[in-house]
Order: sequence, then C-alpha cells, then structure tokens
Amino acid sequence: MAGVQTAVALREQGFTGTVTLIGAEPHQPYDRPPLSKAVLLGKAEDSAFDVDFEALGIELRLGREVLGVRPDAHRLDTAEGPVPYDVLVLATGAEPIRLPGAEGVPGVHLLRTLDDAERLRPVLARQHDIVVVGAGWIGAEFVTAAREAGCAVTVVEAADLPLAGALPAEVAAPMAAWYADAGATLRTHARVRSVEAGAVLLDDGSRLPADAVVVGIGARPATAWLAGSGIALGTHGEVVADDGLRTSAPDVYAVGDCASFPSGRYGERLLVHHWDNALQGPRTVAANILGKPTGEPAAVYDPVPYFWSEQFGRFVQYAGHHGSADTTLWRGDPSGPAWTVCWLREGRLVALLAVGRPRDLAQGRKLIEAGTPMDATVLTDPARPLKAAAA
Ligand SMILES: Cc1cc2nc3c(=O)[nH]c(=O)nc-3n(C[C@H](O)[C@H](O)[C@H](O)COP(=O)(O)OP(=O)(O)OC[C@H]3O[C@@H](n4cnc5c(N)ncnc54)[C@H](O)[C@@H]3O)c2cc1C
Repeated sequence: MAGVQTAVALREQGFTGTVTLIGAEPHQPYDRPPLSKAVLLGKAEDSAFDVDFEALGIELRLGREVLGVRPDAHRLDTAEGPVPYDVLVLATGAEPIRLPGAEGVPGVHLLRTLDDAERLRPVLARQHDIVVVGAGWIGAEFVTAAREAGCAVTVVEAADLPLAGALPAEVAAPMAAWYADAGATLRTHARVRSVEAGAVLLDDGSRLPADAVVVGIGARPATAWLAGSGIALGTHGEVVADDGLRTSAPDVYAVGDCASFPSGRYGERLLVHHWDNALQGPRTVAANILGKPTGEPAAVYDPVPYFWSEQFGRFVQYAGHHGSADTTLWRGDPSGPAWTVCWLREGRLVALLAVGRPRDLAQGRKLIEAGTPMDATVLTDPARPLKAAAA
C-alpha cells in the first residue's frame, strides 16, 4: 500500500524520473483490508489496486525479495543482483507474529497476505471448527467472517478482554459481548500451551479440537532485512523516521507499517499499523523527495491517525491518539448498537472511537485536527451533533 501510494504520489506531484516498485509477493499490488472481509468470504476474488502502473511509468518488479541495503553505495541487494538508487523509500510493512511452537503444524494459519486469505477461504467454505488465537482487530474480523460462513469458532485470548493492548478496559468490555452475540466462544485469561494437528492445548489443561487454527497475535515491522545497513531501528524493530519521514541514512525514507515518526501533535513517537497511515504518509515522502524551492519549509508528517474495522455487523472507527491520563467521556450506551467514546486532554478532543456513528467520527476528526476546546455537557449528549460541543 505505502509503496504503491508513494509511486503514485510522486507522479501526481510531477516527478519525471524513473520509479521502480520492488515487492517480494508475486501478485499485482493489492489492498489488505478486504482480505479479512470480502476476499475471505469469497465475495471478491482479489483486491488488486486500480492503478495503471504502465501508464504512470512505474516499473513493477514483483516476486523479488530485497535482501539488504548499502546506503553508502546507494545500492540494494537482491538475489538477481544489486539495484542502484538515487532515492530509496522503505515500505516493507509488517509481518504477523508467529505462535511459538505452531510453525509447520498442519492447519495453522496467519492472515496477512492474499495467499493467506486464499488458503483460509476453503476452510470457511467447509464450515470447519476453528480456534482463533488472539482477540485483536484481525481476530475479530476473522471471527465475523467465519461465523457468517457458519463455522464453529472459539477464540483464545491471554488478556482479560479483547483489544486489551489497544483500548482501555471500560471501552473493550462491551466489545467482549459481541463475540457471544455472534455465536463465538471467547475464552479470556487463556494461554496456548501447544498446538498439534487437530487441537489446541491450553495452559489450564483444556484441549480445544480444531480443524483449523488462525493466529492473530499482532504484527511487527518487516525490517530484519535492514540488519547491518546502519539504518536506525527503534524499540519495536521499526525504522525510526523524522517528521519528514527521512531515516538516519541519506536519501532513504520510510513510510507505512514499517516506520515510526515523531508526532508533533501528540508529543510522542507513533508507530501506526493502519491503512490511512499508508495512504497519507507517502504524500509527505513524495513532497520531500521532490523538494521545495529554497526558503520554503519541507513537508512535515503530523496526521490525526485514523482507522476502521468491520466486526460483528458493526462499523468501528477510531481517530486520534489517546493516553491513560486523558479524560474518557461517553456518548451513548455501550450496550446499544451505536455509541462513541471521546478522550479529552486539557479540555480538547484528542481521540474518539465511534461504533456505528460515522458522523461523530467525521466531525470528531476535524475537531481533533483543529484542537477545539469542548463543552463536556453537550459532548456527552448523543442526541446532539458532536460539533455542537465545540466550546
Ligand atoms: C487482513 C488485514 C486487514 C486489515 N484491515 C484493515 C482495516 O480494516 N482498516 C485499517 O485501517 N487497516 C487495516 N489493515 C492494515 C493495513 O492493511 C496496513 O496498515 C497497510 O497494508 C500497511 O501498508 P504498508 O505498505 O506499510 O505494508 P504492506 O501492505 O504490508 O506492504 C508491504 C509489502 O512489502 C513487501 N516486503 C516486505 N519485505 C520485503 C523485502 N525484503 N523485499 C521486498 N518486498 C518486501 C511485503 O511482501 C508487502 O507486500 C489490515 C491489514 C490486514 C493484514
């Protein structure tokens, strides 16, 4: 996504030089969100980007893994030989974390690539009994599709609640009920001891029969290939970029799931693993590659992060970034079909999570962007538009 968007943004912004897009996967570049939704259910064959690479003069080199980079020599290493560059953009995304001991066990799946989704499609079509490890975003979307396909699903989650790493307990708590409502069994506080063909064994001694096991326990930046390059990596293994998405190496940028950037807006470094970041970041990269006339400031990347998830018949959207010290305010009843949670810092909206309330999201995103002070009494009345709470 971020690689394609960078190439397209370069052309849109008037870059006339050579653009080469190198990717390890053999498929035409494609979009990932449909993989856990329409593609999984067979409602869409694939999700290839609707981009005419040839017309844009973008050369695709597919099925090519890049093995390393030598920034001093301005060269990439591939199995087919070195590739020189003037400017390099790292957009290698993230790779799913594997469940220790489950590798190579038949029937164990990940869900990151089109190949993964294609392997899972017949599992759903045959209405297998499935154990899902991890109740995060991918887990929830997979469970939704598997239940729609008529599979029996048990979800094993080590934490107390779904999305424990992403949302505070009081917000995640109502989401736990969505699993039961969909007819899936959610087992929290449950740790996998081992996986064998046909079953998952838990730490408490229970044995869960499984025709298939789907592992959704997170993803980490795909940067192992940068080892020894001298390009600075952060604590999560991500490429450390500056506010213009430049890395520590000259003429090397990094964007999308593989890179973190300093957020001026939130006063901390952000590592975002969501689609919108892989859409917006590339515009900044392209602008900085093209450069500004002398005297004009370089483009700065300081987005209000945004993502969505479609799970259990609900449209869940989040904008911004919140911390544990922020004030949580509710708009609506979390046991109902539509509600919003807002986070305020010094009276200003910094983040919101909207379930089935896309208007709250659209208005909230603008209020966060503008840093508007909010009236808490109006804000907590779900009958009034969120923008009416602008103090
Ligand atoms: C199943 C699924 C569903 C999702 N749904 C949503 C959603 O609903 N909403 C949302 O906001 N986000 C969603 N996301 C997240 C979103 O898709 C990602 O944030 C986005 O794809 C990131 O783009 P990227 O270009 O950084 O990485 P990627 O899309 O992962 O692209 C990186 C590419 O680099 C290639 N690569 C890696 N290493 C090398 C190498 N050494 N040499 C050559 N090529 C290499 C990889 O093969 C890959 O094709 C979803 C992700 C998945 C997996």
